[in-house]
Amino acid sequence: MESYDAVVIGAGPNGLVAANVLVDAGWSVLVLEAEDEPGGAVRTAEVTAPGFRNDLFSAFYPLAAASSVIAGLGLDRHGLEWAHAPAVVAHPSTEGPTAVLHRTPEDTAASVDVFHAGDGEAWLELYDVWRRVGTPLVEALLAPFPPVRGALKLATAIGGNQLLDFTRFALLPVRRMADEHFGGAGGGLLLAGNALHADLSPEAAPSGMFGWLLAMIGQDIGYPVPVGGAGELTWALVRRFEAEGGTLRCRAPVRRVRVEGRRAVGVEVEGTPIGARRAVLADVDAEVLLRHLVGPDHLDPAVLSRLDHYQRGWATVKVDWALRTPIPWRDPAANLAGTVHLAASMDELTMGVAELAAGRLPTDPFLVLGQMTTADATRSPAGTESAWAYTHVPISVRDEPSGSHTGRPLRDDDVAEVARRMEARIEAFAPGFSDRIIARHVYGPKGMEAADPNLVEGDIGGGTYQLHQQLVFRPTTGLGRPETPVKGLYLSSSSAHPGGGVHGACGSNAARAALLHDRAGRVVAPVGRALGAAKARFAARPAG
Ligand SMILES: Cc1cc2nc3c(=O)[nH]c(=O)nc-3n(C[C@H](O)[C@H](O)[C@H](O)COP(=O)(O)OP(=O)(O)OC[C@H]3O[C@@H](n4cnc5c(N)ncnc54)[C@H](O)[C@@H]3O)c2cc1C
Repeated sequence: MESYDAVVIGAGPNGLVAANVLVDAGWSVLVLEAEDEPGGAVRTAEVTAPGFRNDLFSAFYPLAAASSVIAGLGLDRHGLEWAHAPAVVAHPSTEGPTAVLHRTPEDTAASVDVFHAGDGEAWLELYDVWRRVGTPLVEALLAPFPPVRGALKLATAIGGNQLLDFTRFALLPVRRMADEHFGGAGGGLLLAGNALHADLSPEAAPSGMFGWLLAMIGQDIGYPVPVGGAGELTWALVRRFEAEGGTLRCRAPVRRVRVEGRRAVGVEVEGTPIGARRAVLADVDAEVLLRHLVGPDHLDPAVLSRLDHYQRGWATVKVDWALRTPIPWRDPAANLAGTVHLAASMDELTMGVAELAAGRLPTDPFLVLGQMTTADATRSPAGTESAWAYTHVPISVRDEPSGSHTGRPLRDDDVAEVARRMEARIEAFAPGFSDRIIARHVYGPKGMEAADPNLVEGDIGGGTYQLHQQLVFRPTTGLGRPETPVKGLYLSSSSAHPGGGVHGACGSNAARAALLHDRAGRVVAPVGRALGAAKARFAARPAG
């Protein structure tokens, strides 16, 4: 039987980071990917019109740029090159000014000060907190749980007398954070637009921390994009892995993790067994991995009942456009940013999330929008724009009047209607947008899941980002680390702490856990054998 030290299921960014960490330790590693090409939600293709490179899913990588895990791989030596738009994020209003996140705090402060005198100063105070605690905070968040060393460094940076104040700050809903710091709308919208990349409402903890963190990372290092498309990040990871001796096999869906005596010993691809001598790492949705690839026969009922509480994030509709020209924003300040957030106000964000919670399609969808040619000129012919936007939708729809608790699955006509509302939304901020469309490509939840089985029901984060499924509760209570109830099997997808986003930490944490257990096993096994032999000698000695 074909056999390796480790088999990694799935060639998403987390799987590929895990695979790189393991080959670096000298292990023989096989990565098995279900799709035709590697990358998972980090891929690029021409899906709209010839010459337009569209990122199929993720597009901007502040977390990758901030992650010591990805920086440590030296991907520039494997062809990865980052590009930046002139500004990081813009949040236009329908009539008034645009709040713009720049890579210099003073420029961002000047932008929010336009909304209310003094808000610039307040922005710089928030930046000051980041300057003190940002580095240890990111380090602690990306480390496996519990992040003992990172937490100590963070506590030192915060200072003993400020610990409670910072903890309170970290738990603030983004609406409250905005109210406590700003008199006008601009600063709060910059924070809230970033917070709502996650499935959080402006009234939920820790949406303030989430928005502040993304905004501050963006301000420090930008929202960079790989030159040539998101897929270039994937290919750099693959090139590095193969250069170090690893093997990647595509069109190889793993249907089963082989378990013997409560230990993972390999996998099965279309009926063919492949051995894993030291570990199996799964860049797979947690519920799919445990319920379907491992199966209930190998799990305690308690694990299965906790999985019943595993909550997915909102579903998603994404539209890619090939545009004749850049987007004709009312305020040209929005043309400078690679990422644009569209919502008229904090109240509109709240109402939008309430609609999702009630099972309704969003009336005025909140959009995260990318202007890719603005960020990287290679994405489409000169003078044109390769653009996309996504919005969230409920996993199941409750039509009015309903009263039904469960609702019905999202249909194709719902997806088409949401795409229509998304275009109408952009038109409101950029009159003439629709006339610029050469072609569009629409992904609903079903299409996304068909292209990447981890995007279950269109959930883009590997499970909800809400507080009750974070840290030690991710993906469920009792599974807060990469180890699973099956020995030698490690969860390395974004279902694991610290969750969604391209930072590679879920992959790196799983690989490090596998290496640690392997080393410990190598120390413990000879001691165990020696103890066993001594016991046998003792038992065999003549009585008396
Ligand atoms: C529309 C969208 C926009 C996003 N925008 C951003 C963004 O701008 N910036 C950002 O940082 N993050 C963004 N994200 C989130 C980010 O892309 C994900 O968090 C990240 O890709 C998760 O990486 P992963 O390796 O855990 O899983 P994935 O990227 O989903 O990869 C999992 C891989 O495993 C494979 N696989 C699964 N099961 C099997 C099996 N049984 N056998 C073999 N292979 C299998 C899949 O085919 C897939 O290739 C976005 C996500 C989406 C969907």
